[in-house]
Parts: sequence; C-alpha cells; structure tokens
Amino acid sequence: MDSQSIATAAYIVAALLFILSLAGLSKHETASQGVLYGITGMVIALLATFGVVADVADSTSIVLLLIAVAIGAAIGLWRARVVEMTGMPELIALLHSFVGLAAVLVGWNGYYEVEGHAGQTEFTGSLLNIHHAEVFIGIFIGAVTFTGSIVAFLKLSARIKSSPLMLPGKNLINLGALAAFGVLTVFFVITPSLGLLIAVTVVALALGWHLVASIGGGDMPVVVSMLNSYSGWAAAASGFLLDNDALIVTGALVGSSGAYLSYIMCQAMNRSFISVIAGGFGAVASTADDTDYGDHRETTAADTAELLKNATSVIITPGYGMAVAQAQYPVAELVRKLRALDVEVRFGIHPVAGRLPGHMNVLLAEAKVPYDIVLEMDEVNDDFAETSVVLVIGANDTVNPAAAEDPTSPIAGMPVLHVWEAHDVIVFKRSMAPGYAGVQNPLFFRDNTQMLFGDAKDKVEEIIRSL
Ligand code: NDP
Repeated sequence: MDSQSIATAAYIVAALLFILSLAGLSKHETASQGVLYGITGMVIALLATFGVVADVADSTSIVLLLIAVAIGAAIGLWRARVVEMTGMPELIALLHSFVGLAAVLVGWNGYYEVEGHAGQTEFTGSLLNIHHAEVFIGIFIGAVTFTGSIVAFLKLSARIKSSPLMLPGKNLINLGALAAFGVLTVFFVITPSLGLLIAVTVVALALGWHLVASIGGGDMPVVVSMLNSYSGWAAAASGFLLDNDALIVTGALVGSSGAYLSYIMCQAMNRSFISVIAGGFGAVASTADDTDYGDHRETTAADTAELLKNATSVIITPGYGMAVAQAQYPVAELVRKLRALDVEVRFGIHPVAGRLPGHMNVLLAEAKVPYDIVLEMDEVNDDFAETSVVLVIGANDTVNPAAAEDPTSPIAGMPVLHVWEAHDVIVFKRSMAPGYAGVQNPLFFRDNTQMLFGDAKDKVEEIIRSL
C-alpha cells in the first residue's frame, strides 16, 4: 500500500469522526465527547496529509512545512487559551478569514501550477476548463469569506461601528458583483489570463467587504454563522484544487452545517434566509430616536432581595452583560438559595443572547446550573404573565419590547423574551446605554421595571448577602 492509499483510508476515518463530532456537539451531555472525536479526526487527517507530502517533497520543503505548522499551532494554542468567552466570536471571525485567505492562495497557486507548466500537466481539454472554473470559484468564495470575516471581526470587536453601511443602490452593487463574477468566469474558462484573475479577486474582496458592512449589529449572529458556512465552501473548493478528499468532505460538512445554522438563526430572528445571503438585511436606515420614554426607576440589591424572598416564581433572562461580568457563578449560587426558599426559578434563554450561539447555555453549564431549569425562549415565553419577578441580567436587545411593538424599530420582527408581562422586572446593567443593536429599550421605562445599576456580578453577590 502506498502513502496515497493509506491517506485515502485515513481520510474516510477522519470524515466519519467529524460527522460523529457534529452529532456529539448537538447535545450538552455529549458535547465534550464530540470535541474529542473532532480532535482525533483532525490529528488523523493531518498525519495522513503529512505522509503524502513527505513522499513527494524534498527535505527542505518538509522542514519548512514543519516549522510553519509548529508556528501556527503555537499561535493557535496560545490564542485559544487566553481568549475570553466574550471574545470568542471575534476570534472565530478572524479564523474564518484565514480559511478564506488560504482558499485565495490555493486558487492562485492552482493557476500558476497549471499555466506555468502548460502541456506538462494532466489538465487538457475539458479537464483544463474544469480546472480553470475551480480556480476561479475557489478564489471568489475565498476572497468573499476573507474580507467579509475581517469586517465581522472589526464589528464584533467594536473596532468599527456595528451600524449598517447604507450605500445607495446597495442591492444593485451586490447583484452587479455577482453578474461580473459570472461573466469573468466564462471569459476565464475560454481564455485564462492573469488580468482576469486579478479582476475576480478584487471584485470578490470588495463584495465580501460590502456584504458584511451592509448588515446591522442586531443581525450579526446570522452573519457569523453565514461566514462559517462560506469558509466551509472555500475549504471544499480548495479540496477540489488540491485533490484532497479530506478537505472536500470537511469543507462540505462545515459549509452545510453552517448554512443550516444560519437558517435556524434566521428563523430565530424572523429574517428571510435569502435576504441574508444577499447581504440585504439591516436594510432600513435607523432614524435618530428622539422619543421621550419618560423616567426610569432605580432599585437596590437589598430591595431586590426582599422582592425575591416574597416571590413564588422567578425567571432569569441572562444576556451578554452576564458574560462580561462573569456573573454566572453568583447567579448559580443565587438560584440555589432561592430554590432552598421554595421559590420556583427558571432561566429563559434567547437564541441570540450573548455573542455566539449557545453562549448563555455554556456559561450556565460552566456554573453547574441544572439543565432542566434552563429553558429556550419558546418554552418560557407564555409563562411571563404568571411570573412574580424577572431578573434581566445583562440582557438588552433580547428583551426589547420595541421588537414586538414598534414596526419602525431596526429590530422589528425579531422574537424577544416577553419579560415585561411579569409582575416585576429588575434590569441589571451599568448605565442606560443601548444594547448591541444600538436601539433604545422602552422596557427600562415601564411601570413594573426597576433598574439595578452596577456590575452584574457585584449586584448578584450583594443580593446573595442580603438574602
Ligand atoms: P446586548 O448586547 O443587547 O446588551 C448587553 C447589555 O449588557 C448592555 O446593555 C450592557 O449595558 C450590559 N452590560 C455589559 N457589561 C455589563 C456588566 N459588567 N454588568 C452588567 N451589565 C453589563 O445583549 P443581549 O444578550 O440581550 O443581546 C445580544 C445582542 O448581540 C443581540 O443584538 C444579538 O443580535 C447580538 N449578537 C449575538 C450573537 C450571537 O451569536 N448570540 C453574535 C453577534 C451579535 P451597560 O453597558 O449599560 O452595562
């Protein structure tokens, strides 16, 4: 058996492990097993690829390859160890950009390898045409992913504003870029040239930038999962060019699971899937909000403790602020104390609370909150009216009644947790600042709402002391 056959067998094993990994990751109970399957699959795929390369490459290339892998692995390990949970989405966006860049480089390399050895490669006739199309499509998807992910990284890390870029005729720009890609592909397949390769790279880089820049803050969760999907397709395109089955299968798994996640996110946020992939939402320019919402009321930790003691049922709706404050541990402690006092306590989790899918579930699992009291938005939304107290801990956009009641709001139509229907609502945050979508929240001014200002962790600890 030569190294290529061993690699093919190893790739099949790796692909199966990746599928098992995805299946494992879909449930709390099997998630860590899923991660282990993924790591094992990746190690097998890397070793098999190395075996193939070692067979054909000279020793200098192998040493260079090992150095590059060692540097990449060291940086990856370091970043993964130091990253805060709240910094995860921006790290993921950055990693997607690397996949995009790699696909562009593989595409350019594929062009030079074949054009530079005209007549000496296996590519002739229609095979050559297919190769040219693969090069072009790979570069296009890769470049869109690259710049799109960089804009997502800049927005998620607040290095640029999260509000949507509203260029006049933005949909026409996107459609024009797609049409240009189609025409350029036809020309490139007929008469490949460096000029056309540069043109498609520039068009795709600009399109990726524009697609994500046009999307507003509230819609970023869908963008992140959409770029996840694009990075998968970019990897699959590279797999075709490099004739690497593992890359094709892995890319297709990431591409299709990312697309499905985007679809679920769109449903959760009541957005049209098609308009997302066209970069067309967040489309309504938000007007300056000069509404007079009235006055807000403030409360103290001691008064909140008193309210909780007398409550029969409490729902906690956590958001991004709980992650920033790392308040999940005192929150778990508070839950234990309240349950010991015979108060029914549950969590209501919005599908896009925090900054990455499942963010709140991970934090609560970390703090050992029992799974059975952590409910999805749909499971809990009808229960608020019969709830004594809702604790909104660092959540804002996900509990904004404007989404349900104000059709002119930039987040109109997004399903939200109906916390305002409860008897009393306590909002934990540090100021009256708006949430990630930049939209003011009328909840803070409702008669049954009281604001508990300060760092969420400090405030929850104060409540525990008062209890
Ligand atoms: P928001 O981002 O809307 O609001 C978080 C609130 O937390 C802020 O109003 C902030 O107010 C408060 N906060 C921050 N730090 C602290 C602290 N230390 N203590 C107490 N409060 C704090 O949060 P949500 O979770 O409700 O909504 C998530 C938003 O993020 C949505 O718009 C969603 O679309 C978007 N998003 C979600 C992603 C996902 O995959 N889940 C990915 C990308 C974006 P203050 O500064 O006054 O304290």
